[in-house]
Amino acid sequence: MNTTETAASVTPLFSGETIRNRVAELGAAISEDFRNLGTAEPLFLITILKGAFVFAADLARCITVPCTFDFLSASSYGAAKISSGSVTLRHSLSVANRHVLLIEDIVDTGLTLQHITDELSKQQPASLGICTLLDKPAARKHPVRIAYTGFSIPDRFVFGYGIDYGEHYRQLPFIGFFDT
Ligand code: 5GP
Repeated sequence: MNTTETAASVTPLFSGETIRNRVAELGAAISEDFRNLGTAEPLFLITILKGAFVFAADLARCITVPCTFDFLSASSYGAAKISSGSVTLRHSLSVANRHVLLIEDIVDTGLTLQHITDELSKQQPASLGICTLLDKPAARKHPVRIAYTGFSIPDRFVFGYGIDYGEHYRQLPFIGFFDT
């Protein structure tokens, strides 16, 4: 990261308030769609680390149906800002017969989620949906079916609200980009 780049030079894309409102809408939609689930059959929210951790924490508090939580580590990006084209998965999740909702920060090429859904589908979950905060439809190379999208954005590199720029800026309360 260029040391002259500071949070002050970040161009905001979505303010904290805009994100908060949209996350509340997503939580309401998910709660409505899964309203028939009881504590015996809770919704299984699987958060994809690291970028979705802030989104998932806020979203979870807007969901009113019974839920259980777990986390999945996947990476298709290294230090560079381009997709490496291969996905590494680390998990020991049991999703058979569960209603699963994957919580993702950004769907870009679709490679990561295609890989994850292919893997988890082998266990035959009762349902397997995707909720992403951001979607870059112009970057898609691998088709994925997204049930809930926060915002569709252009194909540019963004960060903040849990999403990093070379591991920095995850703590920003808004989402932005460097306008270089
Ligand atoms: P995909 O496999 O869909 O190409 O990439 C998905 C993952 O790439 C996301 O979960 C995220 O970690 C990373 N990614 C894609 N676009 C961006 C971006 O604009 N900023 C950051 N920090 N990561 C991104």
